[in-house]
Amino acid sequence: HFSSCSDVTISRSCVPIPIECLAEEIGLFSDEVELYGRTKAKVQLKTIDRLQAQPDGKYVVVTGITPTPLGEGKSTTTIGLVQALGAHLKLNAFACVRQPSQGPTFGIKGGAAGGGYSQVIPMEEFNLHLTGDIHAITAANNLVAAAIDARMFHEATQSDKALFNRLVPLTGGQRKFSPVQINRLEKLGIKKTDPSTLTEEEITHFVRLDIDPESITWQRVLDTNDRFLRKITIGQSPTEKGFTRTAQFDITVASEIMAVLALTTSLADMKEKLAKMVVATSRSGQPVTTEDLGVCGALTVLMRDAIKPNLMQTLEGNPVFVHAGPFANIAHGNSSILADKIALKLVGPQGFVVTEAGFGADIGMEKFFNIKCRYSGLKPHVVVLVATVRALKMHGGGPTVTAGTPLPKEYIEENLALLEAGCSNMRKQVENAQLFGVPVVVAVNAFKTDTKAELDLICKLAKAAGAFDAVHCSHWADGGTGAVDLARAVQKAADLPSSFKFLYGIELPIVDKIRIIAQKIYGADDIELLPEAQHKVDLYSKQGFACLPICMAKTHLSLSHDAEKKGVPTGFVLPIRDIRASVGAGFLYPLVGTMPTIPGLPTRPCFYDIDLDTESGEVLGLF
Ligand code: ADP
Repeated sequence: HFSSCSDVTISRSCVPIPIECLAEEIGLFSDEVELYGRTKAKVQLKTIDRLQAQPDGKYVVVTGITPTPLGEGKSTTTIGLVQALGAHLKLNAFACVRQPSQGPTFGIKGGAAGGGYSQVIPMEEFNLHLTGDIHAITAANNLVAAAIDARMFHEATQSDKALFNRLVPLTGGQRKFSPVQINRLEKLGIKKTDPSTLTEEEITHFVRLDIDPESITWQRVLDTNDRFLRKITIGQSPTEKGFTRTAQFDITVASEIMAVLALTTSLADMKEKLAKMVVATSRSGQPVTTEDLGVCGALTVLMRDAIKPNLMQTLEGNPVFVHAGPFANIAHGNSSILADKIALKLVGPQGFVVTEAGFGADIGMEKFFNIKCRYSGLKPHVVVLVATVRALKMHGGGPTVTAGTPLPKEYIEENLALLEAGCSNMRKQVENAQLFGVPVVVAVNAFKTDTKAELDLICKLAKAAGAFDAVHCSHWADGGTGAVDLARAVQKAADLPSSFKFLYGIELPIVDKIRIIAQKIYGADDIELLPEAQHKVDLYSKQGFACLPICMAKTHLSLSHDAEKKGVPTGFVLPIRDIRASVGAGFLYPLVGTMPTIPGLPTRPCFYDIDLDTESGEVLGLF
């Protein structure tokens, strides 16, 4: 029975359909599919062109209330809903989810394939290397980091002439600019293509990026929760001749390249985005880009396979795209636009694409609408807001919930008063979704200790808060059958006329955009810009980057910046410590309070339980 089976046991108990058969079943041509073993395949982007005339399916986003650190079942619900729509209501249905980072898989939270009888399978393939997209991002990101420090070193140790001779080498007795160098000359306003005609002043201008080391915003990344890399000193070998500087590592899924992958709309667009990424400012105040470093073409090469969405399947044989995996607190938290677009074409006008936005509605959903939908041009039909008894009790004042320790008794015994008090958080998140003009269906993800009275109370209060419908579901325990009511409610909501709108116009000043999110979504009284953030507002406005949407880096554990404040915090001023610009991906990235950009490991990380059975070759201990 389910309650005694781990996620991995359930995942393994089901024999996946050979992925090429699934691909054929959902209408892909064999030359559009690149197999990676028997259970994963990449789908080529030319599929979108072939299906251009096909109307899109209905677009559903799954989000949640403010979660406990354990997660409230958004991935599980995304998969359960697709299983219900597909296997039970007999509609074309596709799930689009993020690729999990190895940080949480080996750290605190475990994998992200869903759970119980609503999972992407095989979950060990899903949770580990998949098809190598995250590794490609790590490689591309770190090539940029290496290029920055090497360039500063060479500029500091060589004359203009020596730099020029190396950057524009003699080939066949002639010097010739490469295409990327011609772009740089154009940007500098030097209208020459023959290297021998450059004046000394132009040569200086051309060869010296003159990066101000203090201004470098590009960090090295890796996909491991290695907290000791949060602040490091680089360049300590004598070969670097004393050019040391303080730097840091971020987790790969927070890299701008991950955001580029998630937000790009074509190969040409990705190439352009990868060239526009700003890594630092020159001493004269100019933004320095990956194109200036000459590395943008190589980045596109490293990312050329990663751009193709990965096809997998649910336990009940429905198609799933797993593509891109930015965290939702320190990045924009949504899977790729390309996966959603291909899926919407494949399901056709009567079908459904269910995509997941990370963490609570204040974080992943707000970014889904204001960033992802702005760039994709797609209009969502329904928001599914996942709520759980345990998280709502926590918001009502229940004791702290910690991963790895048993839940206190308040969470496993009926307590309607605590639950009702905590429903304020759900009400606020329903209102947040409604700000975008999209109907909301609340999905109460039932756990076996929840009582019917508790589940009914949440549904009643959700409808009173303005949700189109609210249902409880048991897809974790029962698979698609357990989410049939949810699927019906979603189907009805999708027929309502949508009046989707953005929360703010991108042409507004940076500070106004941040304030609108803080006040309307988080419930803050106001925002406070700390000196570094104010400096960046001035810099980015001067550099012409003010017209980008905003990607707040904020804790997911509270509507406010303080993870301890549960329910609906009021009377707070949101501190903006710093702002970074992801110019290639296309957003400004304010850091709210202190947000580490690489997580740490707990005393007993998940890796304690992970092992390989060398007899059977099975991976043990993943969940
Ligand atoms: P989220 O996507 O919101 O972070 P997940 O769907 O990954 O949450 O679920 C978090 C964890 O909780 C997973 O290990 C999953 O198996 C488990 N889980 C989800 N729903 C239930 C449920 N109804 N009963 C028991 N465990 C559940």
